[in-house]
Amino acid sequence: MAALSKQTIRDLDVRGRQVLVRVDFNVPMKAGSIADDTRIRAAVPTIEALRHAGARVVLMSHLGRPDGKVVDALRLAPIAAHLADLIGVPVAAVPDCIGSAARAAVKGLHDGDVCLLENVRFHAGEEANEPGFVAELAALGDVFVNDAFGTAHRAHASTEGVGHLLPAVAGLLMEREIGIMGTALADPARPFVAVVGGKKVSDKIGVLRNLIGRADHILIGGAMANTFLQAQGHAMGASYVEGSAVSTAAEILDAASQAGTRLELPSDLVIAPRLEVDAPAMIVGVDAIPADQMALDIGPDSVSRYGAVLREAGTVIWNGPMGVFEVAPFAAGTTGIARAVAECAGTTIVGGGDSVAALEATGLADRITHVSTGGGASLEFLEGKVLPGVAVLRDRH
Ligand code: ADP
Ligand code: MG
Repeated sequence: MAALSKQTIRDLDVRGRQVLVRVDFNVPMKAGSIADDTRIRAAVPTIEALRHAGARVVLMSHLGRPDGKVVDALRLAPIAAHLADLIGVPVAAVPDCIGSAARAAVKGLHDGDVCLLENVRFHAGEEANEPGFVAELAALGDVFVNDAFGTAHRAHASTEGVGHLLPAVAGLLMEREIGIMGTALADPARPFVAVVGGKKVSDKIGVLRNLIGRADHILIGGAMANTFLQAQGHAMGASYVEGSAVSTAAEILDAASQAGTRLELPSDLVIAPRLEVDAPAMIVGVDAIPADQMALDIGPDSVSRYGAVLREAGTVIWNGPMGVFEVAPFAAGTTGIARAVAECAGTTIVGGGDSVAALEATGLADRITHVSTGGGASLEFLEGKVLPGVAVLRDRH
């Protein structure tokens, strides 16, 4: 598998042209204001590069799940205002993403101007990738730029459809996401270490299968580890175990050992009788879990074993927390792994919604080479799937 090589905004002359840019402004909102603007800031380099090259920038995004209807709480006007603050120029909030209002707004742009179309998911044609809706969107641009990595695993009108009607290239964020993760999968600096955690084996099965034979080490944590430990014959007490995936876990263990990938499981665990902040937590070996207790984090011996592997890595990919990091007594495993990844001198990549939240909570995110803006998209990318919003972009020859 060669690393993906797609044309980018640097390969186009955009001066005076209408550039239709799909961004991922699907940010968490609380009571009408933006709770976390990470995704907006991540799109700024592309927007600035286009403006400075003299493009007329037409931004489009979804927000939430309005399911084809107008939902006032999911309008993009607050996001346009916030973006205007970030880039220091006005950003017109267009009241629809197609139709006469959109056409008039785009027509009124001068070189270097920016507007933001209304939530594309107010129209059912967006998620249906419906040809009429695609054509209306495409009429607003001379070229299409996809910078929405977080939505690139969806073949929707604004992420994929328009790419068939307009010359289509990657934005700078998209370029970085697929470049760093693509290189890690195709041509990693070694040792290549993957840390995979989170709740379910079945959610990460595709990632595990794709990493076996590619990674030198796979370090398992989270509730997922319980399922693997059970497959090895350990009694997991009242722990969360994904019963239907125990046999899959056994197959994965087998496949890894045949492929020469060292798949490692926790040697100790943090257990408690209930998942509560004041529950009496204890550290035990994996063979000493009482029947009425549950494993809620990896223990300190596991953190130090995993940490030693991580600090020596040439490439690290981390997806999924090591324990129930949301509840303080069960956060140390995830924090310890975050510290080890931060101390690794190699290329380090963290993806996954909860993993990124856990990393942000440690304050170590700026010591990671690349924190992916896409949860589901990064998972599918790591599974080795071709993302439709990437496939539609022009290849570099
Ligand atoms: P990501 O969003 O990074 O892909 P997942 O959604 O797969 O991660 O998993 C995160 C969830 O797994 C968190 O809500 C966390 O509380 C839960 N989890 C981790 N370890 C355990 C455990 N030992 N028991 C129960 N839940 C766990
Ligand atoms: Mg999650």
